[in-house]
Amino acid sequence: MKQRSDGATVLLGMPEFVAGAQLAVGRELWLLVETTADVVGCEGCGTRAVGHGRRRLKVRDLPMADRPVVLVWAKRLWRCPDPDCVVGTWSEQVDDIAPRAALTERARAEICRLVGEAGHSVAQVARRFGVGWHTAMAAVRDHGRPRVDHLSRLGAPTALGLDEHSFLAATAEHPTLLVTGLVDLDRHRLLDVVQGRTAQGVSGWLAARPAPWRATIDAVTLDPYAGYARGLADGLPHAELVVDHFHAVRLANAALDEVRRRVQQETLGHRGRKADPLYRIRRQLLVAHERLTERGWARIRTGLDAGDPAGEVGAAYLAKELLREVYATTSQRQARRRLERFYAQCRTADVVELRRLATTVHRWEPEILGWHRTGLSNGPTEAMNLLIKKIKRVGHGFRNFENYRLRLLLHCGVEWHTPPVARIRGRQPRLVA
Ligand SMILES: [Zn+2]
Repeated sequence: MKQRSDGATVLLGMPEFVAGAQLAVGRELWLLVETTADVVGCEGCGTRAVGHGRRRLKVRDLPMADRPVVLVWAKRLWRCPDPDCVVGTWSEQVDDIAPRAALTERARAEICRLVGEAGHSVAQVARRFGVGWHTAMAAVRDHGRPRVDHLSRLGAPTALGLDEHSFLAATAEHPTLLVTGLVDLDRHRLLDVVQGRTAQGVSGWLAARPAPWRATIDAVTLDPYAGYARGLADGLPHAELVVDHFHAVRLANAALDEVRRRVQQETLGHRGRKADPLYRIRRQLLVAHERLTERGWARIRTGLDAGDPAGEVGAAYLAKELLREVYATTSQRQARRRLERFYAQCRTADVVELRRLATTVHRWEPEILGWHRTGLSNGPTEAMNLLIKKIKRVGHGFRNFENYRLRLLLHCGVEWHTPPVARIRGRQPRLVA
């Protein structure tokens, strides 16, 4: 390679390589490269090897100035001149490009970062690098797994959050598949996801962590689900269990939705349609009362007047607001009094769904008041649910749990340490002067 260019070598930034000629092929930039190795010993006997020709390989690298880059690597072949040596011929190996790879290692690392940190879809990034989906996903796996498996990723949280979400919607073959997410509430980081929504899933995951790690966890917020409580009693017997605002309101909203659907069916004889008064206010009903606009509240009242003759939906709305009130105070005494008002509302309303809701809330009362004792916030769990939804949207329909777990953890569970970019003003390199 005669047209060796120091400038291009600097731009290339791979210490093992020097760059030669550059070629524009359509929008692509082709860069001829070779290694700097001149003197090589035979691996078998140490004799100085002799050149045995070259083989040209094309490898996709990181884009430069927004143009796709192909490295054309004149890979050296070597031969051992010692006739008694068994090694014969071999081709050179480098760290930056794996044997038979279509991508440089740093391009593969960037694919992993774009999918993991930036949350792009694998298909999108594969197109950008001109490779197939499986090649891109392999890069995500190879560069992502060490990050996810690293023990330090777990940190030393003092509080955990436990939450379920759906992984796969129900099909003819299987019901909705649920997974359980474990969140570090101190650092707002997803620690892991385990399949299912079971006591064993939770206790098994905890049992696999080091005992000193478990010992520092004082409190866990959870979905009010008995299986979770059992799994935690097993794995973290010393931790205080807390039902936070987010999960309690989710219970109340579910009950309110049930009442609305039943009343809808009883009064109109069919499931909600666009013009039905209760169907039209289904979203407003779930909004926190103080966040409703005057118009929103007027719409709710109009909807209830027209579609809720026995006042059952209205009663469920009030119960939901009374349960929210329990969380609007930090005092345990006040919370207890507000819980009594909530129970009274559920008793007098004579709505079957509300009686059930009151029973559930009563069963979880110590954990609800645990929220007032510990002052744990529900923010991280809510924020995590939004991030998880985003990744699910990007991946539209994960089928493979391991891929799903990897993608979630890379986005919500690892620190990326992307180096900050210095501001360009104020810096005056000599070559400009
Ligand atoms: Zn040899």
